[in-house]
Amino acid sequence: MGCTRPEVVLTADRTLMSNYHQNEFLGFGTTAPPNVVPEWFFKLLFFPPIKNVDGIPLEAPYGLRKIEAQLLNEGFEVLTVDPDHLKRYISDAKVLGIHVMDPFGLGPSSSTFSRILQTGEPYLAKYFRILLEKPEVVEAKKRGLKIIVGGPGAWQLKLKPKFTEDHGIDCVIDGEAEKVVGEIVRRAIEGKSLPRFYEVSIHESPSVDEIPEIKNPSVNGLIEIGRGCCRGCAFCSVTLRPLRWYPYEKIEKELKVNTDAGLKYSVIHAEDVLLYGSRSVIPDRKKVLKLHKLCKRYVNQLSWSHTSMAAVATDPMLVEDVAEIILDENQEWWGAEVGIETGSPELVKKVMPAKARPFKPEQWPEVVKTAAGIMTDNNLVPACTLITGLPEETDEDVIKTIELMDDLKDFKSLIVPLFFVPLGRLKDEDWFTVEQMNDLQRELLIKCLRHDIKWTKVMIHSYFKGRWYSRISSFFYWLFVKIVEWKARGVYGAFMPKPISVERVEVKR
Ligand code: SF4
Repeated sequence: MGCTRPEVVLTADRTLMSNYHQNEFLGFGTTAPPNVVPEWFFKLLFFPPIKNVDGIPLEAPYGLRKIEAQLLNEGFEVLTVDPDHLKRYISDAKVLGIHVMDPFGLGPSSSTFSRILQTGEPYLAKYFRILLEKPEVVEAKKRGLKIIVGGPGAWQLKLKPKFTEDHGIDCVIDGEAEKVVGEIVRRAIEGKSLPRFYEVSIHESPSVDEIPEIKNPSVNGLIEIGRGCCRGCAFCSVTLRPLRWYPYEKIEKELKVNTDAGLKYSVIHAEDVLLYGSRSVIPDRKKVLKLHKLCKRYVNQLSWSHTSMAAVATDPMLVEDVAEIILDENQEWWGAEVGIETGSPELVKKVMPAKARPFKPEQWPEVVKTAAGIMTDNNLVPACTLITGLPEETDEDVIKTIELMDDLKDFKSLIVPLFFVPLGRLKDEDWFTVEQMNDLQRELLIKCLRHDIKWTKVMIHSYFKGRWYSRISSFFYWLFVKIVEWKARGVYGAFMPKPISVERVEVKR
């Protein structure tokens, strides 16, 4: 543990200071709004608190650990604290740094969830607000504490200037903060003026050498293996950042930090793990296999943050070889988030032409189906996303996506439908609202919901296999799925509608 009277306290809200029962997928649950099931029960299922010693969490979000490491390297007295134990550490602090992922529930997943279920503020937004409204934080603010917010969801604060002001947030850092956070914190400690909203430019992105290694364990042993993405989808903000891959030595140092703390699992994070070390869209199989062998030397269980359908389909044998390394007596499957986004080659051409590479946009539905087969054969179980409501989406595009969903019914996966959120190069476009949803889009959502309910019921058992509470937790997750099913039936009398026949729909352009 560091100093007990730090000048800089770092934290994150209750929904982020959780390891989600060692399963990052369950973190999706924090994007749901309250009211579906009692709050205490929901917390227990989806975001139980991380263990702590005297209020110091044993694991913390990776992004927060990076900032902690950067500030420690620059000589600050820093401590990462559980949000429910701030009172013990905040009295002398001059700066409170808060890490955010989706502070107002405006991210694609939470905004879609709350609109579909037609209920209020998602948990992650509620607990962010609660954090800022804690009496000890309000008290510390009165005596001059500066609050600095950063993280992947920082962009949302720009849309909420009144909330930002009312809740005493002094500075928001949007982007990769390593090269700027030290100076901003220094100014805050010295009582100098701070920028209300600091957008980190591409030129301020750190090189691999300038990115510090974490010094304390991260949630679920998550570690980065690279940053940036080469595919350039119009609706994504990651694409604006340069592509960098970490060398093995850097990855190994972070693996050791986590395993030395007793963690036996890890999630390797990159926008496309299969492209590790590659400067093109073709996986470098030698580097990918070496990476997995390295990680499995340290941990029993390994998962991926993200990969792409195109990379999986490009080298089917590679996924099989990786499966041979990952799957063993400790692990029967592994997960990843994967973007499908649409089943329409026309829409692929318009908003994500490089997503299919090295294949052509016209081949996209086939690429997705091929990759789905490879994943299923190798026990890679992804959480996929679909986007509807993109500015240029036509009814014909939605029909193609519905048809693709029909072809994916045997794909062991979750397929999460998301409403378009204006980000990346489309950040000036309008939000897609539930009122704009037409019958085709509703049918697509219902298909996804059915797919997810079907596969969640199948997957629940393997999620907790081998743990003593396996049977109890399986029962409760099953119960939760039943409640969502029931709730959805209530909101949409059309939950089990007569499917709209694709042929009956007049295609608008
Ligand atoms: S959506 Fe995924 S593939 Fe497309 S630019 Fe973003 S990170 Fe890359």
